[in-house]
Amino acid sequence: MSKGLDTNIMIVGGGPVGATLALALQEAGVPVTLLEAREQGASHQDQRALALSYGSRLILERLGLWTELEPKATPINTIHVSQRGSFGRTLLKANEHGQPALGYVLSYGALSAALDNAMKNFPGISIVNGAEATAINPASDAVHISYRHQGREHAYSAAFAVLADGGRGLGDIPGLQRETKHYGHDALVAKVQCELPHDNIAYERFTAAGPVALLPNGDRDFSLVWTGKAEEVAKLLKLEDEAFLSALHEHFGDRVGRFLTVGKRLSFPLRLSYLKSVTAPHLAIIGNAAQTMHPVAGQGFNVGMRDAWELAQMLAQTVPSEWGSENMLSAYQSSRKTDTRSGLIFTDFLVNVFSNDIVGLRKLRALGLGLLDVVPLAKNRLVGKMSFGPKG
Ligand SMILES: Cc1cc2nc3c(=O)[nH]c(=O)nc-3n(C[C@H](O)[C@H](O)[C@H](O)COP(=O)(O)OP(=O)(O)OC[C@H]3O[C@@H](n4cnc5c(N)ncnc54)[C@H](O)[C@@H]3O)c2cc1C
Repeated sequence: MSKGLDTNIMIVGGGPVGATLALALQEAGVPVTLLEAREQGASHQDQRALALSYGSRLILERLGLWTELEPKATPINTIHVSQRGSFGRTLLKANEHGQPALGYVLSYGALSAALDNAMKNFPGISIVNGAEATAINPASDAVHISYRHQGREHAYSAAFAVLADGGRGLGDIPGLQRETKHYGHDALVAKVQCELPHDNIAYERFTAAGPVALLPNGDRDFSLVWTGKAEEVAKLLKLEDEAFLSALHEHFGDRVGRFLTVGKRLSFPLRLSYLKSVTAPHLAIIGNAAQTMHPVAGQGFNVGMRDAWELAQMLAQTVPSEWGSENMLSAYQSSRKTDTRSGLIFTDFLVNVFSNDIVGLRKLRALGLGLLDVVPLAKNRLVGKMSFGPKG
């Protein structure tokens, strides 16, 4: 076992959030070491469709990556929100809110490739691919990280480390408490093609079984996110393509015509999960590792991007001897609290209020959607929140 002491900031996890942090720190010349469990390039083919808010686009612009990514991203110019079994609906339009787009759909693989390539240009970023952190122990003097690389165990102690592992790899960190609510629902994701062109409209439809979204992705495709009870989603996964497409038509209605083709179908469980505190001595936790949300409003990924950006700004403004100090960590924690909590509450509210079949609620929801459509202030606030978080 090798023992190392380093003055670099250690980032565990080089997904979109960890990589964004590493790059954002380069403007201030802050050296980082990044441990990534996957081999170089392993995520570049991941077709998962991320819904980027306009605020995330601005972060990527600041990193100098948007020119390269824009041709691969599909703008969302209108969001059409409706509910099954009711006439209430609302339209959110980019041009009514002074934005070129409400958001963008971009594949996880394209974003990862752009971030990975950009990181190669900075000598201040040392990436260790194929390195899996196995334990993180915050202590009073430093944070102690164990990791496995090329069959050997390593130990690393840093004055400051950031965990951005997506919340999957490590289990619980001593001293941190996680709250989790399982919805008992899964999300089925797939690319679909329909009869009608998408015209850069994203559809969000609330049904008693759970929300279903169609996000424009590429010239002709939509990325489908169909949520429902885990056992129902399991049945949908097993259907032949033809039967699946007619079930989708039945569930979604006629707005985009008939559904013609469907690509590979995948599913994942939906949960709301967050850490009560996103810091521990000498450690901050960001992105999906800190909070996981229902995908209903496309908030989770964007909150993670803002975590990375805000932490980088805070580190750049703090003298290195204070990195990881109690003062710095508590300032970071309070700067992120409102954004994270409001994202969690907003998505949970949408799931609870819009996805059940209580008759009174259904009428209220229809009224709510209709009202939203005629009250410009309410719409502006909703678009601002979805685009920029609480500062919107
Ligand atoms: C199956 C699935 C499907 C999803 N689909 C969608 C979708 O369709 N649309 C959408 O908007 N969002 C989707 N999400 C959410 C979205 O992927 C996340 O919001 C986003 O990836 C968060 O970025 P992150 O960098 O925090 O975490 P991640 O993207 O998970 O990145 C974490 C990184 O850390 C690395 N890592 C993990 N453990 C370790 C370790 N022990 N040591 C070192 N490195 C480690 C991983 O290899 C990975 O590169 C999905 C999530 C999942 C799990």
